[in-house]
Amino acid sequence: MDIINPATGSTIEKLKQDTAVEVSNKINALKEGQKKWVAVPLEKRIAIVKKYGDLVMEHLEELAKILTSETGKPIQQAKNEIKGAQNRIDHIQKDALKWLQKEIITEEGGTREEIAFEPLGVIANISAWNFPYNVGYNVFLYALLAGNAVAYKPSEFASLTGLKFRELLLEAGIPKDAFECFIGGAEVGELLLEADLDGYFFTGSYKTGKYIAEKVASKLVPVQLELGGKDPLYVMEDVADVKQAAINAAEGAFYNNGQSCCAVERVYVHEKIYDEFVTAFVEEVSTYKIGDPNQEGTFIGPLTRADQMNVILSQIEDAKNKGAEVLYGGEKWGDKGYYLTPAVLTNVDHGMNLMMEESFGPIIGIQKVKNDQEAFELMNDTTYGLTAAVFSGDELRAKQLVEKLPTGTVYVNCCDRVSPNLPWTGRKNSGMGVTLSYMGIRAFTQPKAYHIRG
Ligand code: NAD
Repeated sequence: MDIINPATGSTIEKLKQDTAVEVSNKINALKEGQKKWVAVPLEKRIAIVKKYGDLVMEHLEELAKILTSETGKPIQQAKNEIKGAQNRIDHIQKDALKWLQKEIITEEGGTREEIAFEPLGVIANISAWNFPYNVGYNVFLYALLAGNAVAYKPSEFASLTGLKFRELLLEAGIPKDAFECFIGGAEVGELLLEADLDGYFFTGSYKTGKYIAEKVASKLVPVQLELGGKDPLYVMEDVADVKQAAINAAEGAFYNNGQSCCAVERVYVHEKIYDEFVTAFVEEVSTYKIGDPNQEGTFIGPLTRADQMNVILSQIEDAKNKGAEVLYGGEKWGDKGYYLTPAVLTNVDHGMNLMMEESFGPIIGIQKVKNDQEAFELMNDTTYGLTAAVFSGDELRAKQLVEKLPTGTVYVNCCDRVSPNLPWTGRKNSGMGVTLSYMGIRAFTQPKAYHIRG
């Protein structure tokens, strides 16, 4: 399997893809490894996760370079991701014991009633490339912690990073048969779907997620899907500072080149501040430095996948044909690599693909609205339900709007953010199940009820 550097389009490494026999052997080993791993006391497992986090920080520079080389993520953002993901490890240190240890519910009437949280067994973690640390940790660290063995399939666009995860987990003390890396694309993912595993935890696109859920349904094992979004942001006319709102909105749209599941994908602005907002927004985007992702200061690197350039360019074409105006960017950049200049479009509406389909790239449509009701209806006009944001000077007014939206996460005066303290969950086509928070700690367990009489 060729590992391509998206900044140059050239192959940086070749990895051997796992064959069907290798996949089967690894899964058999995981089944044995899980029995050993679950026998390790919970406190020790928590300590091993901590040690893993320490090792990651010791190797920060090297790991960031690897991430940048295979995904094109600007080096500063690669470091931010790796450092930021440590908050999952802090969360585990703080809360895991409390939520995974046996709970005594009552001892009344001479019967002690308890709940034990047992691991599922061997679970598949089929993952995405855009934030491999964040989305990977959400699943595999928490799953390991609960005593599961993990069949981890990194995305084919983040496989070098996936192999590093395994190396450092083993160095931290995870038994080698408790965490395996499966190298390859959809074909290797398919082999995991055919295997006899105890749970499927997927992060990726709606199309693949739906396919996986259907394919493994008859196994009757837990399936969790963290999928895409078309996340809206509405800027009310009472924001304290229109320029600052525009700067924050632009960052929410273009950080990591817009390749975030919770990136701002469409913006609605109250007509009273629309012109001022759009001017400030374009001004901000025009300061973004595009170029070599290895250079400090680069904000826009290449897209990770060559194919996604065509998705963005076709959204621009479709929108222009239907009357949109391109105020900034939207063109190929440089003579090599998968670069697009960040695109800002106005005069957009919901008849355009740009406002309805996940872009997952450096493009945004900004639409003028008359009032909160119109904003609400447009925000709600989507098959997705991951996040939604409102910027406003009035918390109550903002909350009245966001509480009616069927999304797993809502933001007031912030966006494009994830906290390990809170559940990360999508509604509608954005997925099902929960990672993070105490619910995410328990997501990789099955409860067992004990009725004990002395
Ligand atoms: P993708 O669906 O193309 O691939 C995801 C993973 O599935 C990869 O490892 C891939 O090899 C594997 N895969 C593909 N076909 C398969 C098959 N038939 N059987 C088994 N496995 C298969 O998604 P992607 O391009 O890696 O990620 C981008 C998508 O992920 C976006 O839609 C984004 O919004 C979403 N995402 C969601 C979250 C979240 O937390 N909700 C986080 C990150 C990314």
